[in-house]
Amino acid sequence: MYDVVIRGGRVVDPATGVDEVREVGITGGTIGALSPGELEGRTVLDARGHVVAPGFVDLHSHCDDIPGMRLQVLDGVTTALELEIGRYPVAAAYARAAIDGRPVNYGFATSWGAARFEVLAGVRGTGRLQDVFAAMNVEVWQQETTPARVERIVARVEGDLAAGALGVGIPIGYAPAVAPAEYVALAAAAVRAGRPAYTHARDLVEQDPGVLIDGAEEIVRTAGETGAHMHYCHVNSTSGRHLDRVHATITRAQAAGSRVTTEAYPYGSGMTGIGASFLAPELLHRRGLTPSSIQHVASGRRMADAAELRRMRGEHGSDLAFVHFLDESEATARELLDRAILFGDTAVASDAMEPVWRTTSRNSLAWPLPGDVSGHPRTAGTYGRTLRTLVRETGAMSLPEAIRRCSTVPARIAATGVPALARKGSLRPGADADVVVFDPETVTDNATYRETTRPSTGFVHVLVNGIPVVRDGVLDPTVLPGRPVRA
Ligand SMILES: [Zn+2]
Repeated sequence: MYDVVIRGGRVVDPATGVDEVREVGITGGTIGALSPGELEGRTVLDARGHVVAPGFVDLHSHCDDIPGMRLQVLDGVTTALELEIGRYPVAAAYARAAIDGRPVNYGFATSWGAARFEVLAGVRGTGRLQDVFAAMNVEVWQQETTPARVERIVARVEGDLAAGALGVGIPIGYAPAVAPAEYVALAAAAVRAGRPAYTHARDLVEQDPGVLIDGAEEIVRTAGETGAHMHYCHVNSTSGRHLDRVHATITRAQAAGSRVTTEAYPYGSGMTGIGASFLAPELLHRRGLTPSSIQHVASGRRMADAAELRRMRGEHGSDLAFVHFLDESEATARELLDRAILFGDTAVASDAMEPVWRTTSRNSLAWPLPGDVSGHPRTAGTYGRTLRTLVRETGAMSLPEAIRRCSTVPARIAATGVPALARKGSLRPGADADVVVFDPETVTDNATYRETTRPSTGFVHVLVNGIPVVRDGVLDPTVLPGRPVRA
């Protein structure tokens, strides 16, 4: 007798190669059996005609909140990891999540950005994303510093790695004047801890001929020099139209034996603090952007001109903005975005952001979300969109291959130095019972740049540690079964 039985679905487990109709038996948060014959369970979830897959592991979720994670679980995500920016100190982030409860599993890299802000500006890290958004616009944070201070920054990062951080988050692209030696020192700390470093790359030399080092070269050379596992975040957004060159740089490093891994999301716009250094009006042309490519999320306003953008950066530098780096209505741009995901063993990762309450006051437990709540559509739709466009509409990927890139591949990437992740990304007996059941004929994203928080549909049941958070397509707001993932 199992706690939960998932009945009669097509089980697709890329980790083991299983692709056939099986019953899934779950006991105590663990997969107990995959059986061709009928199993008995206290709860039976019907999956006939549907696909049963290991839950999706998002390597790039800034959601450290219940509302954002609820949008993600309705999109098939069962583990949401904040690895690019990270949190510092991680212990504070883990403690807060444990007290609040989370609908999906969660985990954090340490945040170089927040540790750096603490050392250089004396602003204590709180373990929140806002630590780094607050630092972004501050001159001392963006500048090169002394070797002695780099040592103190690295010491803080190492303290967090000892405390169980999943890796080192280094969004160096937000502080392009920081010396390459500091980046190498951080990667060396990651090597000593046996964990990956996650990077939002600097500008490419094609984007800024004056950059200290080409963003892609920096990642691959650091992998070669230090032996670090370097993870290249959202290759789509930082590469834009130079994607093929970046892929060639990565391929060269991989062929030479370096461990460089990649992720991408299926959208042509990013979202970041409007005060980010690379959004300075005088630098936009380097990315082929204009002020109207920048859209203030809370007001929905596209910037009319450089003056308005400058004023917003000055007065509301930590407010979120869409950055429309590729026009999704253009076929060539869409094809580029597809290639970003199809390259090598690229993981699908969302870059999800916590939703923003525009007019009413924030209520983390409100569900469904009120109408004024907005965000980036990728928060709610990355995985539904991947399955809709790349599998069903274009056939660019087989269904098992898409599942592999949404679950098995990311779990393996983040498992470097994190044994707990070896139990994710698969439905083999003994694995964590993080399971997604979806209808391959109808599964889809519904979030758009206007209706940014409309949840995906077609994800019929989503189980986190054996507990159904989504059942018959409906989110259960009474359960928060997410557990910490810690090294
Ligand atoms: Zn980023």
